[in-house]
Amino acid sequence: MQLVWFRSDLRVLDNMALTEAMAQGPTIALFVACPQSWQQHDMAPVKQDLIRRRVQALQQELAGLNVPLLLVEGSTYQKIQSVFEQLLPLGIARVYSEAEYELRERRRDESLQNWLAVQGVAWWQCDRQCVFAPGSFVNGIGAMYQVYTPFKKRWLQRFAEQGVQVLAKPKPQAPVVLDLPELTPMQSGDNSSADWFVHQDEVLQQLRRFCQQQVQDYKKLRDVPALDATSRLSPYLAIGALSVRQCLARLQFEVGVDLQQSESGASVWLSELIWRDFYKHVLVAWPDLIKHQPFQAETAAIVWRNDKTLFQAWCEGNTGYPLVDAAMRQLNQTGWMHNRLRMVVASFLVKDLHIDWRWGEQYFMSRLIDGDFAANNGGWQWAASTGTDAAPYFRIFNPVTQSERFDPDGAFIRKWVPELAKLSSKQIHWPHKLPIGNTYPAAVVDHAKARQVTLELFRQARQQS
Ligand code: FAD
Repeated sequence: MQLVWFRSDLRVLDNMALTEAMAQGPTIALFVACPQSWQQHDMAPVKQDLIRRRVQALQQELAGLNVPLLLVEGSTYQKIQSVFEQLLPLGIARVYSEAEYELRERRRDESLQNWLAVQGVAWWQCDRQCVFAPGSFVNGIGAMYQVYTPFKKRWLQRFAEQGVQVLAKPKPQAPVVLDLPELTPMQSGDNSSADWFVHQDEVLQQLRRFCQQQVQDYKKLRDVPALDATSRLSPYLAIGALSVRQCLARLQFEVGVDLQQSESGASVWLSELIWRDFYKHVLVAWPDLIKHQPFQAETAAIVWRNDKTLFQAWCEGNTGYPLVDAAMRQLNQTGWMHNRLRMVVASFLVKDLHIDWRWGEQYFMSRLIDGDFAANNGGWQWAASTGTDAAPYFRIFNPVTQSERFDPDGAFIRKWVPELAKLSSKQIHWPHKLPIGNTYPAAVVDHAKARQVTLELFRQARQQS
């Protein structure tokens, strides 16, 4: 009997572990919920719920292939071995999975693989989270790229040479008869992710709709948070309900991707998918990032102010900066935030409030439905000017100018900060000169002064290194 262990690849289509296992013989599948380990990773409850709902849908989809998916409630990664102990008497010959890149996940796999070997059970793992596996890309001196643009250039070359292969759904197997041990059944979640669908057909429909109807305008509209102009596929990519190869194949099928035409909406969207690959490659090449180290070592010397009251105001969306507050309230209420706003609020936390980027990184993880260590860490370090390819430290977003530019009529602010809904498009970005009553907070800092402090903090850190 073959066993597929589902983790961050919660799909039937383009799933190499499943395809390979079913090609070898009768297959069963396993998913183990590990809420205690998830909590240690600060995984947002809304993401946990999405996973629980998704695996239930996956169970139905796999039933169509006659592959039983066992949904087990576990606790920590360390205790997963006991689930396998109960399953081995079924005659498991080999365990199949897709590699995960974070440290605890890698340690979990290593320890289980060693234990399985002692039990005489083989281990098979594929590396399919990215289009091209981390480690398979090196620069002229044999090292991983530290900067996105040359990475992208190399990536596009390889894409032009090799294209992308999406694995089809495997053919159904003959039904398997099992004498199952008593396992603790997986619990349902809290339904907090109910606004996000979980069935494969719906996810694919969203991908198709985006590539058919929206991607052409992506370049023009993607920075406007009031519009629904991005794909909103990140939660599905984060849990592997959708693969990046499926996105690329659909993009090519619907619009074609002219690699020479870097200015089209499709090419700009492709660039975002390449950013996703880039940050995962970076994480594998520099595992210290998982230990919360800055990519640029000298920035470790920055002495952050870390004012807890200011941090709380930021978390709650009460900073007195309307766009920042609207964005944080969107995150708190929905578990998702628009990319432009992630950049704005991250910059604000670090460069206006002088709070350690790691506080923001952790808060994001604890709230995001699409929380992904590599993308989140990469995004935060970019905004904090501590990462690969970081924005130079003297480039500091002005939160009011960003608001005027990307939410010109204030539609986004009006939606999430109802206290300001009646203000005019001109007033809404900086309402503090108006008598707006005491319902909206005063600005917690003066941007111009805060900017000077940031420049000084970076200057001091550079002097020390
Ligand atoms: P689209 O614009 O439709 O992009 C398509 C896909 O490309 C996304 O779903 C995502 O998988 C990928 N992508 C897009 N932009 C990036 C990027 N900058 N880096 C890496 N991948 C990208 N993305 C996450 O998936 N998880 C996170 O935890 C996360 N944290 C972030 C934190 C900060 C501070 C910043 C600045 C960005 C973060 N991002 C994260 C990247 C980006 O904001 C989201 O991927 C995007 O907003 C998701 O919306 P979408 O699916 O509509 O994206």
